[in-house]
Amino acid sequence: MNLEQVIDYLRTDPSLRANITHWETIVPKAAIYGDYPQQLSRQLVATMVHRGIERLYSHQQQAIRSIMDGKDTVVVTPTASGKTLCYNLPVLDSILKNRQSRALYLFPTKALSQDQMTELYNLIQELDVDIKTYTFDGDTPQTARRAIRSAGHIVVTNPDMLHAGILPHHTKWIKLFENLDYVVIDEIHHYRGVFGSHLANVIKRLQRICRFYGSNPTFICCSATIANPGELTEKIIGREVNVIDENGAPSGEKHFLIYNPPVVNQQLGIRRSAIKEAASLATTFLRQRIQTIVFAHFRLYVEVLLTYLQRELKGDFGEGIKIAGYRGGYLPNERRRIESGLRSGDITGVVSTNALELGIDVGNLDVSIIVGYPGSIASLWQQAGRAGRRSGVSLTILVANSSAINQFLCTEPKYVFGKSPESGIIDPDNLIIRTNHLKCATFELPFDSEELLGDDGTSEILDYLSESNIIRRSGNRYHWSSEIYPAQQISLRSASPENFVILNESHNAEVIGEVDYFSAPIFLHPEAIYLHSARQYQVTKLDWEGRKAYVKEVQVDYYTDAETKSDLKVLEVNEESQQMEFVAGHGEVSVSNVTVLFKKIKFETHENVGFGDLDLPEMEMHTNSFWYAFPGDIRFRLDLDGADFGSALRGLANILGKIAPLWVMCDPRDLRSISQVRAPFTEKPTVYIYENIPGGVGLSEKLFSESERLFESCREHVRSCSCSSGCPSCVGPSLEVGEHGKAGVIKLLDYMLAVAPV
Ligand SMILES: [Zn+2]
Repeated sequence: MNLEQVIDYLRTDPSLRANITHWETIVPKAAIYGDYPQQLSRQLVATMVHRGIERLYSHQQQAIRSIMDGKDTVVVTPTASGKTLCYNLPVLDSILKNRQSRALYLFPTKALSQDQMTELYNLIQELDVDIKTYTFDGDTPQTARRAIRSAGHIVVTNPDMLHAGILPHHTKWIKLFENLDYVVIDEIHHYRGVFGSHLANVIKRLQRICRFYGSNPTFICCSATIANPGELTEKIIGREVNVIDENGAPSGEKHFLIYNPPVVNQQLGIRRSAIKEAASLATTFLRQRIQTIVFAHFRLYVEVLLTYLQRELKGDFGEGIKIAGYRGGYLPNERRRIESGLRSGDITGVVSTNALELGIDVGNLDVSIIVGYPGSIASLWQQAGRAGRRSGVSLTILVANSSAINQFLCTEPKYVFGKSPESGIIDPDNLIIRTNHLKCATFELPFDSEELLGDDGTSEILDYLSESNIIRRSGNRYHWSSEIYPAQQISLRSASPENFVILNESHNAEVIGEVDYFSAPIFLHPEAIYLHSARQYQVTKLDWEGRKAYVKEVQVDYYTDAETKSDLKVLEVNEESQQMEFVAGHGEVSVSNVTVLFKKIKFETHENVGFGDLDLPEMEMHTNSFWYAFPGDIRFRLDLDGADFGSALRGLANILGKIAPLWVMCDPRDLRSISQVRAPFTEKPTVYIYENIPGGVGLSEKLFSESERLFESCREHVRSCSCSSGCPSCVGPSLEVGEHGKAGVIKLLDYMLAVAPV
């Protein structure tokens, strides 16, 4: 069977068809072409034509024109639409015309920068000119660094290296900074939340150093499709940007299916394992030698799926079918071998983490299977984009797991296929992040009291730092005065203290995972059963100071559930909308958590089979929150008795917190929710959705402005869930929210939508 025939089979086989909750057919699209801009170097155009690229796509033409006019530009088009030419051509053109010209390329990951480097290098070889491109990252040998600093025309690096390895040593990079004409930021949608807020500050430091050396580079950015590429880019580079978003690249017919594994326990809302369903779907394609990629969340899932597929495809039917795994932790050579095997067709199937989601070239495959929603719609489309040829049919299947967010997408496919509602949100002015970068900036060059980095308030922060003797003020200038070298201690990937690592004592203390600082007491308390990809581990020791948890492999018939006393205090209201009956708002809050005891809960029956007390430190975090307060007498109006009301409010907080990440394009772990039957601040029944990031990054403000749409889709979802009184796919298990929990949540949501101003 070829792919068309397998698609027909999916369409007609009743047992499969029943699980497909949505079938989207995307029609093929013809290319729109444009000529090479007149200003572009003849030599460059001749080389491109020689490569077989006679014309550009329209978006490439528009982007190159905009960039050559000196405008900061962001190109917003899907995977495999030829984005790299949009920056490579103007950059090479500039160097061909002026050998002093320099460019800096930033990619979010090392793997991606190596890949792009190969492509650029091939183009330069065909041009037959002496243009030096170098990768500068943690792996670059010391001996090569000097040559890169003085002679590299194009330096390819990542934000972490720019932050800690280049900017603090700018005096060694004078040639680069004096002549920097272009800065390329690829995959800019990747920089959201904490990482994006850091990057915006790193870019400010870069611009500050460029000013010092007399250059003013043009920014060229590329983004996958998100709701606000222009706004996000402007926040990151701090300047206005020209958005090019009309894709001229052709595409073949594409089928995108959402597959929901069948329910095996109606009452508890448990479905068949998404991993097993995905493996069985993948086997169907691989047997027909149809090139397939399977995406899984975690490294361990990759291994499990791989084992499963290899076992299934052994024997006569599987002869000659090669399947590989691909994830962080594989050696670079191994990865290159897999990439080229996929391009040549030697490898039929690959199971990967999101490591292959970014632009690494593996050619275009026929089928992509995505196991579980990958955390953002942008990622979902990128993974889907791995299947698809310029002509011919391709197929993507999202296999839902039983979490609320996955089940939501099964009932609301328009969320995936309508215009993307996600926005990349960052807050460059997060006080913690900004203070850290002000330290780095002062280390790099002394600050003038008039000089600003970010919005106002720079001198206040500098004055504060000078009180603690890290910075010295003399006259109107601030100097760095500490022995410590600040950038090295600041990670761009988090705003909170370090994560806890989990070490497996049963296996040479191998690291099996990480848990963020604030979740450690909940998942890693002593005696906790830590579930990692269907395996059970028991925590033997929690080393609080060392940020380590030791676990051993066990086989028990229970799991643990920690009980945490959480408290949330509102510190400051940023914005509030007070209607007749309810109050919604957002602002600064302090959240404190202390984990006091844990329960042992038997699988299947959910009986409580024991508990233990815990003595763990209380953790406090200042962050931002969105809240919604009901009128004080709401439970009488909705006819809910005391216990039912408390459960319903908790269920409401559960569902809001689980679905909200879809609205703000954040990692599901970045938002938490809490309910208070009588909140000290509002003195009313209140639900809070707070940012699980110290200082917050602006997610609450976005939730505040989009709350009605969020409430509406939560109601849709809860109503259509097949469980009877609550399950993990909607308001939470009935064990937690009570027998009437689900009905109560629907009543509350009905009320919220009835009183909302239209
Ligand atoms: Zn449910």
